Amino acid sequence: MNDTSSRIDVKVCTDASRPRDQGHIYVRAQQGRWQRLRRRLGWSLMLLFLLGPWLSWNGRQAILLDWAQQRFHLFGMTIWPQDLTLLALLLTVAAFGLFFITTWLGRVWCGFLCPQTVWTFWFIWVEQKLEGSANRRRQRDRGGRNADWLLRKGAKHLLWLLIALLSGFTFVAYFTPADELAYGLLTLSATPWPAFWVVLFTLCTYLNAGWMRTIMCTHMCPYSRFQSAMFDANTLSAAYDASRGEQRGPRSRNSDHRAQGLGDCIDCELCVQVCPAGIDIRDGLQYECINCGACIDACDQTMKRMGYRTGLVRYASENALAGRNSGRAHMRVWCYGVMTVAVLALLVLAVAGRSTLALEVVRDRHQLYRETLEGGVENTFTLKLANKSQQPQRVVLSVEGLEQPGWHGPQQLTLVPGEVTEVPISLSLRAEVASAQRARPILFVAGTEQDQVRTESRFLMP
Ligand code: SF4
Ligand code: SF4
Repeated sequence: MNDTSSRIDVKVCTDASRPRDQGHIYVRAQQGRWQRLRRRLGWSLMLLFLLGPWLSWNGRQAILLDWAQQRFHLFGMTIWPQDLTLLALLLTVAAFGLFFITTWLGRVWCGFLCPQTVWTFWFIWVEQKLEGSANRRRQRDRGGRNADWLLRKGAKHLLWLLIALLSGFTFVAYFTPADELAYGLLTLSATPWPAFWVVLFTLCTYLNAGWMRTIMCTHMCPYSRFQSAMFDANTLSAAYDASRGEQRGPRSRNSDHRAQGLGDCIDCELCVQVCPAGIDIRDGLQYECINCGACIDACDQTMKRMGYRTGLVRYASENALAGRNSGRAHMRVWCYGVMTVAVLALLVLAVAGRSTLALEVVRDRHQLYRETLEGGVENTFTLKLANKSQQPQRVVLSVEGLEQPGWHGPQQLTLVPGEVTEVPISLSLRAEVASAQRARPILFVAGTEQDQVRTESRFLMP
């Protein structure tokens, strides 16, 4: 019996409902486990980003990347330009981490964590709330301009701009004290540069997430360009199982599609309609794909409606789709994983062993040494000290490598948090202990209650 009542409207994607229309992609909203995960991750990250500048630690902004002072305050720690090793290690961890994740899970960063994707989906959500579903939006855009169209478009762009302003403000608040910035903007008394950056980042967010969307990922993001070099046959990515799906075509729900020579793909094109990149996953792996999993959720939904097994589109590697064993090829993932952990361990050690005091010694360049009236020898130095902690530090200065030297200048001082100071001093040796050695290696020591730093120099004699 021909069961027309259960026949599914399989060809729902006509030209009129294709996601790409005159260059614009009308993304259809999709529910499902990957979209749930993406949304939860996205909202959590966004919340962290928005709250970040308002977190306080020991009475000061917990995360402040202070360009003007060239210091990064991260909770209780202050990173100085001298701590470039930490920054280099951090960037190395990030690079190896990205290699590791990409080789293993493909562009999962792009689909689930990248700010460009998170903000784009946020903007699409607003668009959907104000202008309706993808089909409704397309119809509205094709229909003439009227008051309803204008009102909805106006409200959407206004809301986009407000979100962009909040994002732009928050971003700049990581680089300049958040409360000062907020006060300056609200009272129109902000200095020109922070205000300029807020406006610039507001515009960038509005244009990137509102207008450019995946164009940014496809044509401008360097990561999308080099990530293919990290892919191998075992990398997981959203993939269509052609051996199961083909021959694609419409059919009745209760028909025996195998007997008709059809595969499991009913050609509904739902996977295409939900794709933010506007591509068809059935054409194979494409560089536009950001691995967001929307097509997987869409196809699973169709499979369930048809009573088929889910997973026709799924996260799978090339080897898994071809039924091949991944074997030793996973070595690359392991190598990147081990490197990430190793550099991370180095970073942790470097942070733990980092000194909160810096000492630099500069010799007097005009006079290498001076002979005293008593026949002794004197050398002059400038000790440059920096308190890299967020607490005041009492510093005691001394020298090692000389017998009973005379110390002329301050030997104890207190530095306020972040203070950099120069201490001019002279060292002298009496005639009877001055040796024939022309240059004696010495060590200047700056000590606090918790820490001691040593810096080498030389004591010169005639
Ligand atoms: S093809 Fe699938 S995973 Fe890739 S961007 Fe489109 S919807 Fe996301
Ligand atoms: S792959 Fe799935 S969602 Fe895409 S057209 Fe085929 S059945 Fe529909």
